[in-house]
Amino acid sequence: MFLKNRYESEELRVLNALNSRMDLAEKEKQYYFNLKKGFEGEVVFDGHLKRIVIQSLILSDLLFEQNHSHFQIDSLMISQSLIYLFEVKNFEGEYYFDGETFKKINGTEVKNPLLQLERNASLLRQLFKSIGYKIPIEPYLVFVNPDFTLYQAPLNKRIILPTNINRFILQMNHQRSILNNQHSRLSERLLSSHLTKSPFTKIPPYEYAELRKGVFCHSCGTVMEEYRGREITCESCSVKENTKKALLRSVKEFNILYPLEKLSTNLIYEWCGGVFPKKTIRQVMKENYIISGYGQWSIYE
Ligand SMILES: [Zn+2]
Repeated sequence: MFLKNRYESEELRVLNALNSRMDLAEKEKQYYFNLKKGFEGEVVFDGHLKRIVIQSLILSDLLFEQNHSHFQIDSLMISQSLIYLFEVKNFEGEYYFDGETFKKINGTEVKNPLLQLERNASLLRQLFKSIGYKIPIEPYLVFVNPDFTLYQAPLNKRIILPTNINRFILQMNHQRSILNNQHSRLSERLLSSHLTKSPFTKIPPYEYAELRKGVFCHSCGTVMEEYRGREITCESCSVKENTKKALLRSVKEFNILYPLEKLSTNLIYEWCGGVFPKKTIRQVMKENYIISGYGQWSIYE
């Protein structure tokens, strides 16, 4: 049973909105794509975990602080006598282990995910100890991308390759697991220790005046300019989107970037690059937000 679901982090949503509206530096872009890819991989793994039928409590995307160190957990599963800790990687392409280092086939060294897993497991053990729980932790490193290949994989039963995931889930489903109050209490304890503000965020500074205005295609990121009443079309990839949806999506992007700013028709008109008539904006906003004020001074909340 999923107790805590996974959502795009605030950082990812901000970067999503910024990516089409400003030119991110190469490093920022790489960081954003990795973040996005990582999230997509975690969602794929959630899909596998949904097939678990034994009694269990699953908590996704947790952030803790232990001994002044922050650590993030992709998925944690509480079963009767074990805690499963999953570090999920959505790597694509060919990789190999060269002793203690983890490398791409072209020789580029990548942060060793097994070390990251060990660190997380160790910090989680300390956290459990500090809250008085003795249940053993089994850490696993899961590679979810079907286009991932690992050469010289150490015979480490902690590594689950894309071709092992099904078998792993089947094996889990053969285990006996009966949960009681203590397990629920542990999950509540973990949820209350979870931090919502990540100290790791890397959001570049941005200025309203410098951001590109317009409605940006949710599929390819190009500005959408072909507006025809009920729908708006992306000329670049031909994706069509319902006007209401596209407008509300753009307003949400504004909200993510400027959560404290008040929304008015004029502001939304400008933010959307003037593509939607003010009358349409007023109508859609009236249906979805609460209006306060009057006439051109109305704001939407
Ligand atoms: Zn497009």
